[in-house]
Amino acid sequence: MISRISLRLLAPTTSEIRSFDYHEAFLDVRGYRCFDNSLWLQGLTGRLRNQPKQTLTEATFRTHQPMQLSRFLSNALARKTAPSSVLRNPSKSDTLRSDGCLREALLEMAIRGPEMVFAGYVALLDECVEKRALREGQRVHAHMIKTCYLPPVYLWTRLIVFYTKIGLLGDARRVLDEMPLRNVVSWTAMISAYSQKGYASEALDLFQQMLRSETEPNEFTFATILATCTGESGFQLGRQVHSLVIKNNYESQIFVGSSLLDMYAKAGKIHEAREVFECLPERDVVSCTAIISGYAQLGIDEEAIELFSRLQREGMDSNYVTYASVLTALSGLAALNHGRQVHGHVLRHEVPFYVVLQNSLIDMYSKCGSVTYARRVFNSMSERTVISWNAMLVGYGKHGMGRQVTELFELMTKEKKVAPDTVTLLAVLSGCSHGGLEERGLQLFQEIINGEHGVQPEMEHYGCVIDMLGRAGQLQEAFEHIQQMPFEPTPAIWGSLLGACRVHSNVDIGELVGHKLLELEPENAGNYVILSNLYATAGRWEDVRNVRHLMKEKAVIKEPGRSWVELDQVLHTFHASDRLHPRRAEVFEKVKDLSLKIKAFGYVPDLSCAFYDVDDEQKEKILLGHSEKLALAFGLMASAEGVPVRVIKNLRICVDCHNFAKFVSKLYAREISLRDKNRFHHIVNGICTCGDYW
Ligand SMILES: [Zn+2]
Ligand SMILES: [Zn+2]
Repeated sequence: MISRISLRLLAPTTSEIRSFDYHEAFLDVRGYRCFDNSLWLQGLTGRLRNQPKQTLTEATFRTHQPMQLSRFLSNALARKTAPSSVLRNPSKSDTLRSDGCLREALLEMAIRGPEMVFAGYVALLDECVEKRALREGQRVHAHMIKTCYLPPVYLWTRLIVFYTKIGLLGDARRVLDEMPLRNVVSWTAMISAYSQKGYASEALDLFQQMLRSETEPNEFTFATILATCTGESGFQLGRQVHSLVIKNNYESQIFVGSSLLDMYAKAGKIHEAREVFECLPERDVVSCTAIISGYAQLGIDEEAIELFSRLQREGMDSNYVTYASVLTALSGLAALNHGRQVHGHVLRHEVPFYVVLQNSLIDMYSKCGSVTYARRVFNSMSERTVISWNAMLVGYGKHGMGRQVTELFELMTKEKKVAPDTVTLLAVLSGCSHGGLEERGLQLFQEIINGEHGVQPEMEHYGCVIDMLGRAGQLQEAFEHIQQMPFEPTPAIWGSLLGACRVHSNVDIGELVGHKLLELEPENAGNYVILSNLYATAGRWEDVRNVRHLMKEKAVIKEPGRSWVELDQVLHTFHASDRLHPRRAEVFEKVKDLSLKIKAFGYVPDLSCAFYDVDDEQKEKILLGHSEKLALAFGLMASAEGVPVRVIKNLRICVDCHNFAKFVSKLYAREISLRDKNRFHHIVNGICTCGDYW
């Protein structure tokens, strides 16, 4: 199941942003399923000499039933050479010749009755599986029962496979339960069916039963069961399975290794995943993709890219999931040049599932600040999914291009090829909000409420509307809106209103909202700062002191600020008061110099943006050490005059740095684009596309 996407553009946490990035890349159902459930199966099918979709069970047969091995291989070969309608052709006279004519074969079976030998059952059942022929398969099964035929274990298993392929898991389970004798293959077939259909607890349950019956699991059982170890308790279970794997000596087996790695990566335990990865006896596209996407999902983008480049040098194959993960990582870093290279690669290698990749490309280009390129990819698509539209709409929205958002949405509704979903409407609402089209936004929300778009409004939609009302200065309305919401308002929603109160200097509502927020998230330093600023504008110094005092007691600054610029395909990362960059001394000088120069043109440092309770001189020094200022200064230093500078920040940009960038852009005639975790700021000649509201 694809979980609901969080697209909180108000004040999302970093992990929410990451999860959004991740989903954007994999939302295509095909891509997602493939990625989520059967990564290792993909590899498995690849390993089986590119046969058309072999099932797990067939593969299991191959390895574990020597008797069946030759049969499987000859069938596979026959399938390779024969036209698709002729499936098998066992030439022995005592077996039934089906020759692809299931109906006739069944007739013959009925005539010959109990005389028929069991080899005929296998051929028939195989054909029923292949054709998903329910009735016919049931007749074969019935014939076995009627003739009191006692099937060998592998034939029972074939019945299980038949029912699971048809989707009748209950019948499959009944067959398993009736079996007088079961082997690892029969257990695994059923477990795998549960797992693939998303019945994780049934799969785990059966796995336990299997262990209790003292059947030893094999590598396919482990790989299957590890794939079901997801979700909240998944990691704990996965760890237990891991110890079983070690006990049974399957740790270095490639399918098991890949599944272990995938399990750890999905649980966010990337170090464990990396350890498994490094110990794999051989690496293939499956394991490589799992580890790369593991990094990308966690937002450890540099590592993802580095690993990708390393593995490519080692000659690793890539598939569309690999590329999609890499593009996600690149959008996280806003590494445009790398992104272009991957785009070139995808084009040259004609990677299949191109729609999924094109969606990732749109996302990558717009997150890298190149919305024109994103649109070019969008326009070139012969087929678009709702994800393509959403990626493009979100892209415009984050750039504050409200008009383009509404135009594109109109095109979408006019075309009627793809119906909008909740994300679409959220993207349009948020685009209206960020693009200064409050009226259109409010009108759209009314349409949503009236059910005109076939989508129920959710918390995020309400959040957007509150943001819009706040922007338009309708603070009382926004406040009432929050109170009338059918949801419990989140800190992000209150935070957006508090921000609006600051911009419009509304102390009455601001005070109310501020104290609510201090209760809800006492650790968030930003709230204290805004509230104390509000008090300061009203001259309520006693309150200012109180709030500052509270902040010192309770607030923690969780995530350190980090900004980066890309120059000549190298990413330069700066931390607040950086201690790592080789040219940091020069950079600090440059920031100081810039600050002096723009002060002459009216720049006044906003000391309230320094969270520490120190004297003003110290505060100014802290402000000058903000990572985005360092990255901006470095960008100016290291690039030719007139070249736009693009800075990316992991957190929300502070008011002071925003102001700083505006002055710099004007004085040095440079276009500055700043991507913070909420949106893009394009600053040209001292004016920002956000209208100083973000
Ligand atoms: Zn700052
Ligand atoms: Zn801005």
